[in-house]
Amino acid sequence: MNEVRGVIARRKGAPVTIEPVMVPDPGPGEALVRVQACGVCHTDLHYREGAINDDFPFLLGHEAAGVVERVGSDADGLAPGDFVIIAWRAPCGGCRSCLRGRPWYCFASRNAKQPMTLQDSTPLSPALGIGAFAELTLVDSGQAVKVDPAARPEAAGLVGCGVMAGLGAALNTGGVSRGDSVAVIGCGGVGDAAIAGARLAGAHTIIAVDIDDRKLEWAREFGATHTINGAQTDPVEGIREITGGNGVNVAIEAVGTPKTYEQAFYARDLAGTVVLVGVPSPDMKIEIPLLEVFGRGGTLKSSWYGDCLPSRDFPMLIDLYLQGRLDLDRFVSETISLDDVEASFHKMEQGEVLRSVVVF
Ligand SMILES: [Zn+2]
Ligand SMILES: [Zn+2]
Repeated sequence: MNEVRGVIARRKGAPVTIEPVMVPDPGPGEALVRVQACGVCHTDLHYREGAINDDFPFLLGHEAAGVVERVGSDADGLAPGDFVIIAWRAPCGGCRSCLRGRPWYCFASRNAKQPMTLQDSTPLSPALGIGAFAELTLVDSGQAVKVDPAARPEAAGLVGCGVMAGLGAALNTGGVSRGDSVAVIGCGGVGDAAIAGARLAGAHTIIAVDIDDRKLEWAREFGATHTINGAQTDPVEGIREITGGNGVNVAIEAVGTPKTYEQAFYARDLAGTVVLVGVPSPDMKIEIPLLEVFGRGGTLKSSWYGDCLPSRDFPMLIDLYLQGRLDLDRFVSETISLDDVEASFHKMEQGEVLRSVVVF
C-alpha cells in the first residue's frame, strides 16, 4: 500500500481538497504509474459539479503521462520504467463490439480492480477510471500505453483525453481527408485539436468558429485558414460564404449545445458529415425538420473519445509530435502544482487557458 496526496471532490459543487490517498500495489493485470503530468479538463469540473454521476468522493485527474512504477502479473508487455500515457479506453477483447472487430467502441473497457481509498478506507471513484491528480495511480495495464519517452510529459498527457478527442473527431470519426473543407464550432482544447487534426489530414479549408476573438487567434495557430466570430456573424452564412455558397464537407461541433449543433447541421454541404464531440447536458433537445435530415443526405455521427484505439493512436501521435508535425506544446497554457487545481477550474471557465497542466 502506498500513501500519496490526491485531489478529491467530496461533495457536489464543493471546492476540491488535497487529501491523503491510499493506492494499493498492483494485482494481476494492473499497473502502478508514477504520474509526471496531468492536464485539467472540463470533465474534472463536471465530476465536481455532480454532472457525471453521484459516486462521490471522486479522485480527479485523467489526462496524464508518467512512468510505470510496478506491474502485477499478466501486465502484458509493460515493465517498470516504461513511459506511458494513461487511456480511459482499454479494450476488453470480449464485448460485442470488440468481437465484431471494433475495439475503438469497446463497451466494457477495463480498469483497475482494486479501489484506491481515503485513509479511512472509503473507496474513491477515479475520474474516467484513472484518477491521476495524485503522485501514484493504479490502472489496468491496458490503460497504460507506451510511447516514446523523448516526449515532454506535460504535452504527452494531453493526448490521453482532450487532444485525442479532438484529433480523433476529425481523423477517425469525421474521416477528414486531403482537399476537404472543415468547420470546427467551439475552439477550446478539443476544438483546436480537431483543427490540428484537419490540418494533418490535408483539409484545404479549415474554418474556426467561436465567440471569443482570443480563441480564434489560437485556432489560427493550430491551422485554421478562416475564422468566424459567431457573436458578430451568423456562422452558417459565414461558412457558406467561404465555401462558395455550399457549406463544408465535415462540420465538427465541439461545444455540445442545441444551437451550435444546428449550426453544424446547416453549415455542411450536401452529403456532408456532422460530428458531435461537445458533450451536451441531459436537458438539451434539438428540433430539426426530418425532411432536412433526409434531403441533405450524408452522415450524423457522435465521437466518443475520438473513436480512438489508444494502442494504435497514442504512439503515432507522439511520433508526429516529436517530428514537429503536431504542436502539442501549444496546448499547454501553464504548468501548476497539485494545490492549484481549484484555481485552474476558474481560469478554464473564464476561457483564459487551453490547458493548465499539473506537474509533479
Ligand atoms: Zn478529459
Ligand atoms: Zn470490448
